[in-house]
Formats: sequence, structure tokens, C-alpha cells
Amino acid sequence: MATIFEKIINRQLPANIVYEDNEIIAIKDINPKAPVHLLIITKKVIPSIQEIKEEDFYLLGKMAKVAQKLAKEFKVDKGYRLLTNVGTPSGQTIFHLHFHLLGGRDLLSMG
Ligand code: AMP
Repeated sequence: MATIFEKIINRQLPANIVYEDNEIIAIKDINPKAPVHLLIITKKVIPSIQEIKEEDFYLLGKMAKVAQKLAKEFKVDKGYRLLTNVGTPSGQTIFHLHFHLLGGRDLLSMG
């Protein structure tokens, strides 16, 4: 079954897209935990960072580059959190590789 993110990539579901290239898409999180809460997503369906195969590790570099660019654009480049969940115990709910970019408020209170 297609993940929610695949449906967004294929334009079967709406989303607030803030970046897109041939391999990465970034959207605003529908349930933001901070004033800036973006999701940086691989177009290729990889369940999590734990399942990345050798040939796809370069995508992590691309995602980091997109994070830098978006942090500047959203004016949080002086302080933000970039995180990815792995598996249900971590709180992962969508099994399609993505990084959360969180910023715009004091993140220390988030734990
Ligand atoms: P995770 O728990 O790490 O798998 O993160 C999934 C994130 O996707 C959560 O922060 C959700 O709020 C977010 N989310 C779920 N559905 C959508 C959607 N349709 N558009 C944007 N973000 C979504």
C-alpha cells in the first residue's frame, strides 16, 4: 500500500510543498510541533534510515543540503533540530524515510 508521502509525491493527496527536485520533496508538517516544522522526504520509498542500502546513502547528503537551504529560507538557520524516527518504538508513524526540520522556538523544552 502506498504511504501518505507517496500519495503526496504523486499528487494524489494535497500538501504544502516547500521544496522539490527529482529525488527529494519537502512539505510542511500537517500537525506542527514548532512554528517551523518541515518534512524532508525521499521520493524513493525507503522505510527508514535503518533500511538504507549502500547505493542510496548519497540521499542523506542531499537531504542535509535541502535542510540547510530551507533553514535559511524559513529563518531558523541559527538553531533548529533535524531528526528522523526509526520504527514504532521511536514514534515513527509513516514508514517512508523523512527528516523533521523543527525550529522557530526554544527546542530544549521538547526534550
Ligand atoms: P513520523 O512520526 O516520524 O513518522 O512523522 C510523520 C509526520 O508526518 C508527523 O509529524 C505527522 O504530523 C506528519 N503527517 C502525517 N500526515 C501528513 C500529511 N498529509 N501532510 C503533512 N504531514 C503529515
